Amino acid sequence: MTKIAFIGLGNMGGPMAKNLVSAGNQVVGFDLVEAAIVDAKKNGIDIVKNASSTTIGAEILISMLPASEHVESLYLKEGLLKDIDPSTLIIDCSTIAPETSRKVAKEADKLGLSMIDAPVSGGVAGAKAATLTFIVGGRKESLDKAKPVLEKMGKSIFHAGDSGSGQVAKICNNMLLAIHMCGTAESIALGVKNGLNPEILSEIMRKSSGGNWSLEVYNPYPGVMKEVPANRGYEGGFLNKLMFKDLGLAQEASESSNSRTPMGDLARELYQKMIESGFEDLDFSSIQKLYLEK
Ligand code: NAD
Repeated sequence: MTKIAFIGLGNMGGPMAKNLVSAGNQVVGFDLVEAAIVDAKKNGIDIVKNASSTTIGAEILISMLPASEHVESLYLKEGLLKDIDPSTLIIDCSTIAPETSRKVAKEADKLGLSMIDAPVSGGVAGAKAATLTFIVGGRKESLDKAKPVLEKMGKSIFHAGDSGSGQVAKICNNMLLAIHMCGTAESIALGVKNGLNPEILSEIMRKSSGGNWSLEVYNPYPGVMKEVPANRGYEGGFLNKLMFKDLGLAQEASESSNSRTPMGDLARELYQKMIESGFEDLDFSSIQKLYLEK
């Protein structure tokens, strides 16, 4: 049995921590929100009164927080790093800016602590089913130590490179996801407005050179696929506000590395329109709505 500290027990962290308990580990957790704490207690997680208390005797500390500012605030401003024993491996699974990952890992290093960034792909469904993909940045020896724990929450684990690389790879993936989702929604809408049946058109493109993940498993047009958000009013899934956040991270990375990302920038503008239209809590495939407006 491994003693694991878990900070941030929200939509993703809650089920991830639950899977660690199910695998026979002792999980000591903390969150700021009462609803998350109530659920975590039901799932066998020992809740303590602050982040620092989770770290006592923990071999591994996992954080799953909303954004860069939360990670920086927890580890640096609130000074959590100073309370962590050097034998504890820190795994930050939040999706945040690569520079923030590198900054916090550098401060951890100064204190003799090991820290990896391990953002995930697979969403809430993947977190619940323990089928997440972990995209890791940091030292290989740290990843080797993390693997037995990550394997209890996911199916695939990739080492992208040094500290911050996990975040870069995650951002690249999500930028591409947004672009092909927008392209898929745009193409289906064009076909439908020109008299085609969305189901037949989707099948033609899926089997032709336009085939992609959105067409394969996540069709954005209502009624084409059964078990997807498009078929339940775009409820649940990967929210527009999270996609918008990730496209913002892509844009920052693009600016700081002097890269050209015109398609990513345009996708971000489209998702911004979704937020401004009040759809921030709908699944990101609801971008289809933009193309069907009269
Ligand atoms: P969430 O808002 O549901 O959960 C985050 C939790 O962190 C909240 O319960 C919040 O109270 C807690 N928190 C914030 N600051 C804290 C602090 N200082 N101490 C303790 N707890 C604190 O968000 P989520 O959907 O679980 O996403 C978490 C991360 O995973 C994000 O970076 C997101 O981009 C990423 N992600 C989410 C999904 C998804 O589908 N939801 C998919 C892949 C990656």
